[in-house]
Formats: sequence, structure tokens, C-alpha cells
Amino acid sequence: MTKIYYKSTRGSNNEISPCEAMLNGIAIDGGLYVPNEFPNIDKSFKELMNMEYKELAYYVISKYFTDLDELELNKCIDNAYDEKFDDKKIAPLVKKNGDYFLELYHGPTLAFKDMALSILPYLLKTAADKHNLNREIVILTATSGDTGKAALEGFADVEGTRIIVFYPKRGVSQVQERQMVTQKGANTSVIGINGNFDDAQTGVKRIFCDDEFNEILEQNGYIFSSANSINIGRLIPQIVYYIFSYCELLKKNAIENGEKINICVPTGNFGNILAAFYAKKMGLPVNKLICASNENNVLTDFINTGVYDKRREFKMTISPSMDILVSSNLERLLYDISGDDSLIRNMMNRLVDEGKYEVNEEIRNGLKDFYADFATEEETYKIIGEVYNDSQYLIDTHTAVAYSVYKKYKEDTKDNTKTVIVSTASPFKFTRSVAKALEIEVRHSDDFELIKKLSNYTGCKIPNAVIDLENQKILHDSLCESVEMKEVIKKILMI
Ligand SMILES: *Cc1c(COP(=O)(O)O)cnc(C)c1O
Repeated sequence: MTKIYYKSTRGSNNEISPCEAMLNGIAIDGGLYVPNEFPNIDKSFKELMNMEYKELAYYVISKYFTDLDELELNKCIDNAYDEKFDDKKIAPLVKKNGDYFLELYHGPTLAFKDMALSILPYLLKTAADKHNLNREIVILTATSGDTGKAALEGFADVEGTRIIVFYPKRGVSQVQERQMVTQKGANTSVIGINGNFDDAQTGVKRIFCDDEFNEILEQNGYIFSSANSINIGRLIPQIVYYIFSYCELLKKNAIENGEKINICVPTGNFGNILAAFYAKKMGLPVNKLICASNENNVLTDFINTGVYDKRREFKMTISPSMDILVSSNLERLLYDISGDDSLIRNMMNRLVDEGKYEVNEEIRNGLKDFYADFATEEETYKIIGEVYNDSQYLIDTHTAVAYSVYKKYKEDTKDNTKTVIVSTASPFKFTRSVAKALEIEVRHSDDFELIKKLSNYTGCKIPNAVIDLENQKILHDSLCESVEMKEVIKKILMI
């Protein structure tokens, strides 16, 4: 098998091995690691169709992590995709309301982040052991709500690691916050910040690229890595379920072998949809990638006009995991289309200095694989109610954004290509908004009471992961300003 190497989108480093790319998280020039080439799907779908999720995961991930041997990788996969998931299929594809929903929320934290974050700790640990890294890995994570908990769950008590999570204090749902602040594990820290997700993410990125601080860490026996989708170890495992969903469509006889499909993804940091794009590059028959945003619709404007302009009001929406104005992984797409690292450096600098950039004609053409639109808050509520009333199927607010945009796409283009709607969270994670959408009285109840109300009203089973949450002890209650993040980290690591 051809060895795959990773390089920075901003061009400053030599090609490094997959394990090194994973351990570093982000390149020192601030760029993101990308593979030097894309491996092809070299088995027939007839063969792939007969694989369980784990087998397919091995097939895909082994192509990108060519420095892990079979035993090592299989061990990571076995540890990741086990009974933590409450559905044997791991990523079931269900037909509801006449459409196909890929449910990626059957993991321990009820959001799609589990798909990658249940394997990342094992991949990182394996990489660290392989490189005789005698330092503790400090996972530094900014979260809009779901990554934080999924990463905490994945890394808690994993030997040789620490995990520090920053979340926007007023930007997450009650269930999301409770999930994080009750996290057990001696190596876990959770800190709220007075600011939004972009403040947290920018702070984390800055710390990663702070040479002086990195040196201090090194002297103290630590090394930073990231659990955000800027880490290639997060992105690659996400390719698996797109190929899996295609196989499921084949099994259901919904498509012919080789028939193209559309994939519609509720998008924030552009990681999930980028994984779909990578699957397409590997040879998955994909027609359009539909990028669905909420009212923070900077990506909609970008894909439709070629201008990325973050200078706009940051809105707090009912799909908080997508409340993002700087979508990190877009950089990987732009690099993929242009192959020009100095151009990327230039655009990313302009984004920091001026708050906007415009892409050239070549990149604009390359964006034609994508269709973009957004859903308003009202549309998001409305579609949750409609889907439930029509088919008794409950979708969360993020999935609702995707579904609403898909309906607009279909109306707009009359395209009848079979489409996979990516369903990213359990409705019980965003209960208040989902209950409101069903016109359940929410005013005098907290989210935990609403979970019961919602379950009673719909007959949908409450997932195990939220059943006990209400009674768990709060173990983390720190709060800081985004400018204080570095000091907080120093305190935690006692350096
Ligand atoms: C993180 C998240 C998203 C956005 O995914 P990106 O990879 O950041 O684009 C959408 N929905 C849910 C529920 C999420 O947790």
C-alpha cells in the first residue's frame, strides 16, 4: 500500500507521518495537515456491502494511517465501536418521511462527535507509544458543546493524557453543559469562558502556535494536541460513515451500484462535510454536497459568492453546535482545490487582519460540488413539527436545519437524486427547542423535566446517556475570560 504523508495547508513544514500529524494536531505555521494524496476505494461496493461498520472502518482508516499496523489499528477500532453505541449498526440509515437519515448520534454523548472521538484517544495513544513519546499529551479543546463532552468521554482516564475543555458559558444547552461539568476522571478539566465559540477556538489555536509556551510545556514533560476537527485523527474516521451509508442504500435496494447520491450536512466548522468531500475524492459516487447552515450563514454566502466575510453579528441559535463564524476546515477544501499554500496563507492572514477574503475563479469553480443554503430559526422549529406530525419521527435542531435546507434544494433544483440527510444529534440533547417545536409547554420546566415530557408526549425512549444526568454531581465550575486561557492552563498543569 502507498504510504501517505501529511503536509500543512500553509506550506511551511516537510511531509510528516500520519502519527506525527495526529500528535501535532495543527501545524506550527497555523495551517492544517492534509494528506499528500487521496487513496482510492479499490474494492467493489458488492464487497464493501458485506462489511460490518468496524471492518469498513479498518478498510478506510488503514489507507490514511499507513504507519499503523493491522493489529494496532484493529485494537483502536475494537475499543471505539463497541457497546458504547446503543445501535448495533453504529451508524444506522433509516428511511423516514420518505427520506434517508443517517443517524450518527448513537454513541455515549448523543452527538455525531462520538463517531470520531471514540477512536481518537486510542489512535493518539498508539501514535505516542510508537514514537516513544515520554511526555504527557495535553488535549486542548474548544467546544461549541458537543465536541467537549465527546472528547472528555473519550479521554477520561486514558493513561498518558490530560484533557482541558473550554466552552462558551452562555452558548450551550443545559444538557450539554451538565454533561461536561459532571465529567469524571482525574485527568479532565472543564472551563466555561465569557465569550462565544469563536473566542474559544481562536484562543486555543493561538496557544497551539505559541512557540514560547510550547517550549515551557516541553520542559515540563507535556505536549499539546487537539481533539477538534482540525486534527486529522478526527477527520479520517468520519469518512467511514459516508461510505457505510452508501452501502446501506445499496442493501435497501434504494440505489443501483454506482448511482450517485447527494449528501446533506448540517455544518459548523466544516469538518463533517469535508469528510464527505474526502469520501467523494476516494471514489464514492456523489452528486452534490449540500452545506446547510443556521442563521450564522457565513458559509452559505461564501459558497454562493466566493467572499468569506465573518464581519457580522454572531447569533445564538437553537442549533448551537453550528454557531460558528470561522469554519476552520474550509481551509483544507480551499487548499485541495488550489494546491497553493502561499495563496492559502495569504487568505487566512486576510481573514485575521481584515475579517474577510475573496477567492479566485479557480476556487470558485472548484466549489461547484457544493450547494449551500441556510435555515432560519422559524424554519427549523417548523420542520421538526412537520416531520413529527407526518411520520412520528423526532429530529433534533441541527438535523432540522439540514432537512429544511434539503427541502429548499429539492424545490430549487427539482433534483431527485437519493439524498442522505446527516442526522447529527439526538433530539433529547436539545430538548427545550425540540419540545417547543412540538408546542409542548416549556416555560416552567427545566431541561430535565422537559426530557420526560418529551418522552411521554412522543413515546420516544429517553437515551441512557441522559437518564441519570440530572442527579450527577457537578465536578467542574471554573469560569474565565478568553484572554485568560493560557493562565488557566498553566494553573491546571502546575507550570
Ligand atoms: C459539531 C456539530 C455540527 C457541526 O459539525 P462540523 O463538523 O463542525 O461542521 C452539527 N451538528 C451537531 C449536533 C454537532 O455537534
